[in-house]
Amino acid sequence: MVIVNEKEFPETQVVVHLNRERCDGCAMCIDSCPTNALEVVDSKNRPGKKVIFIHARLCQGCGVCEGTCPKEAIFIPGLSLDDLRGYLDRAINMDIIGKDHLPA
Ligand code: SF4
Ligand code: SF4
Repeated sequence: MVIVNEKEFPETQVVVHLNRERCDGCAMCIDSCPTNALEVVDSKNRPGKKVIFIHARLCQGCGVCEGTCPKEAIFIPGLSLDDLRGYLDRAINMDIIGKDHLPA
């Protein structure tokens, strides 16, 4: 497994956060996660809707998923979106994910 931001988070367990109001369960982030930490589940607060669930023990805080989310719903606290889009570019260059994970 490659941790994209190992320099930025040396030996630190950083877990991505979710804004449940913004997430519509579109699943665009799912395949971008190198550790399979993301899953689409039924929303408890919005019947009939989907939302992402983060398996915190699997999340390595790499930030790739943030760069793929068109709603800016999933994020690493304290880092800018530009930083995380940089991670996404690096992940594409390293063939971890494909360009189809870039937001429109
Ligand atoms: S890409 Fe964003 S809106 Fe779509 S499921 Fe993931 S976190 Fe939710
Ligand atoms: S930050 Fe996102 S892409 Fe990275 S391990 Fe956590 S859930 Fe997966």
